Amino acid sequence: MGKIINGKQIADEIKEELKEKVKKLQEKEIEPTLAVILVGEDPASQIYVSNKKKACEYVGMRSLSYELPEDTREDTLLSLIKELNNREDVHGILVQLPLPSHIEEEKILMMIAPEKDVDGFHPMNVGALSIGKKAFLPCTAAGIIELLKRSNLSIEGKHCVVIGRSNIVGKPVSMLLLRENGTVTMCHSRTTNLKELCQQGDIIVAALGKPNFVTADMIKHGAVLIDVGINRLENGKVCGDIDFEGCKEKAGAITPVPRGVGPMTIAMLLYNCIQGAEQGEE
Ligand code: NDP
Repeated sequence: MGKIINGKQIADEIKEELKEKVKKLQEKEIEPTLAVILVGEDPASQIYVSNKKKACEYVGMRSLSYELPEDTREDTLLSLIKELNNREDVHGILVQLPLPSHIEEEKILMMIAPEKDVDGFHPMNVGALSIGKKAFLPCTAAGIIELLKRSNLSIEGKHCVVIGRSNIVGKPVSMLLLRENGTVTMCHSRTTNLKELCQQGDIIVAALGKPNFVTADMIKHGAVLIDVGINRLENGKVCGDIDFEGCKEKAGAITPVPRGVGPMTIAMLLYNCIQGAEQGEE
């Protein structure tokens, strides 16, 4: 049986390290602070935001919460971001997505100052990542690299097959795997020979949002399987994009869902915000 990669445990280790960083900043009278903005009452978003606030609290960081009504005007949200951009005591700004349809998401993300863009979605940070400059890295993608490194699974020279090309997961994780000297194949809904490509993968990152999509016949013996998917089934259970039960014997290592990639995303968000506070100190 392959190694089960315990993302929850690795995320907890990172959070312990971050607690120390927070203490050091506090000794210098810097209070690392994340501003979290939620517009509307989407239940899933409310849970995400509440988890992010709890995680801040756990590592000793301050979080400022802005919960705005569904009918908030776009210019009101833009003004709030502008105000937070100018506040020296705020190191990270996070706008929970999706936003209500009357608000233009791109306009909002563009307004966040790149040096406070802890989600790493601003085009400045995306561009910096693609040319190998220092940038805030999108949290899920950064979390996957950290999971692999801390599990002693090397990326260099490996054939990495990424399924999904979204701006928040597929593209950034592909860039990061490339930066770590992997040989990267990006697959998407128009890829014609997906099974064949997956069978060549030393590392497979599944980020397509289709329950149990990657099955044992699609992987080679010993492959490292990273499951980003979060799919809620009709019975209320959550499953990933990889058929965990079917693949775990054949895989070299595999992340479960839940307790795999998910907890790493939040740990990397805290990491980014603390990094922002440390930069302010320079
Ligand atoms: P998107 O819906 O934005 O992107 C899905 C991608 O998968 C697209 O590029 C799409 O291709 C591709 N795709 C869809 N169907 C197929 C198929 N049959 N074969 C090959 N490729 C396919 O999703 P996200 O990237 O936002 O999220 C992916 C999953 O990860 C979701 O389940 C989401 O909930 C989860 N997630 C988990 C996080 C975590 O912290 N663990 C964080 C973020 C997301 P095309 O571009 O051609 O349409």
